[in-house]
Amino acid sequence: MAKADYYETLGVSRNASEQELKKAYRRLALKYHPDRNPSPEAEEKFKQINEAYEVLSDPKKKQIYDTYGADAVNNGAGFGGGFQGGGFGGFEDIFSSVFSDMFGGSFGGGFGGKRKRARRGNDLQQKVEVTLEQAYTGVEEEEITYSRIDTCDVCHGTGAEEGSSTKTCPTCKGSGVVQFSQGFFSMRQPCPDCGGQGTILERPCKACKGSGRTKKKNTLKIKLPAGIKEGSVLRVANGGDIGTLDGGYGDLYLQVKVKPHKIFERDDADLILNTEISYPQAVLGGEIKINNLMKEEITVEIPKGSTDGSVLSLDGQGMPVLGKPNKKGVMRVVLNIKVPKKVTPRQKELLEELAKTFDEQVNTTKKGLFDKLFGWFL
Ligand SMILES: [Zn+2]
Ligand SMILES: [Zn+2]
Repeated sequence: MAKADYYETLGVSRNASEQELKKAYRRLALKYHPDRNPSPEAEEKFKQINEAYEVLSDPKKKQIYDTYGADAVNNGAGFGGGFQGGGFGGFEDIFSSVFSDMFGGSFGGGFGGKRKRARRGNDLQQKVEVTLEQAYTGVEEEEITYSRIDTCDVCHGTGAEEGSSTKTCPTCKGSGVVQFSQGFFSMRQPCPDCGGQGTILERPCKACKGSGRTKKKNTLKIKLPAGIKEGSVLRVANGGDIGTLDGGYGDLYLQVKVKPHKIFERDDADLILNTEISYPQAVLGGEIKINNLMKEEITVEIPKGSTDGSVLSLDGQGMPVLGKPNKKGVMRVVLNIKVPKKVTPRQKELLEELAKTFDEQVNTTKKGLFDKLFGWFL
């Protein structure tokens, strides 16, 4: 699949409106449609135009393309395959829907009669929630269960009740088209009774009312890469609804939510830890022991003269960088100087001594006038 710039392919700017996209697509598709343009490059060009329009006209796909770029769309940014671009089987759908208003719906005639077309199933969205620890390690196998439209189990997708089958459509005698004359013209139209299929069901399946598709639970095992972030989108190819007439499954888009952690805050690949140190530790420096996210004890050196709110940066103790699991961010340890509410008499004595050395005025053991007067009820 070509990793082209889709905006360039359609010759529009990155902030082109939906209308502009549609217009550009129409113009180019008319120019390169293989039925109209016999040059050998036309078919490839037409495929590229369709691929670009399929992505850019779908807000979900466009967002991913805009955010992660062409590589991401084609490689899924390491999350599994890329988009199923406008394969040649699928282009007729977009093509005729864009053109139907121009040609008053008669455009289908050019494609040899409007038969019921194979349609790819809908894409689905699902949320998947992980802990910060799971985001750190990645998840090898997580089971998710959700509902999607899939092949009916009762009729196995035929739409016919057991024991019954399809029969030749009596209206069109199996041809799928009906013909009528108007003046000089002989017009052909898809058969209204069989939708152009040429066959109809004898007795439709009760479970799916003849559609061959029902809502079913689907369980998938998914893998989440280390370093996954809140808002990351993972695409599971063929995880969406099933299409019609072998049109294939749509895709499932998993939106990642990372639960807030009790101790650590996350800032991209960095982790932030708030910790308390005592006043003597701040002044004299020292060592404290903390646990990292994986609960491994690490020793942190407090430098002499640390002020309240100063930040120490610990290399390699942050989150893995998405897509580069061996590279890690830093842990930012924020030092908060703890002011004790209660002190022992000995500590109080020492603090008073200390205060004197700084030549500071403090409340001493001999109570001030205010404390003498009101201390009993304070
Ligand atoms: Zn059925
Ligand atoms: Zn028919």
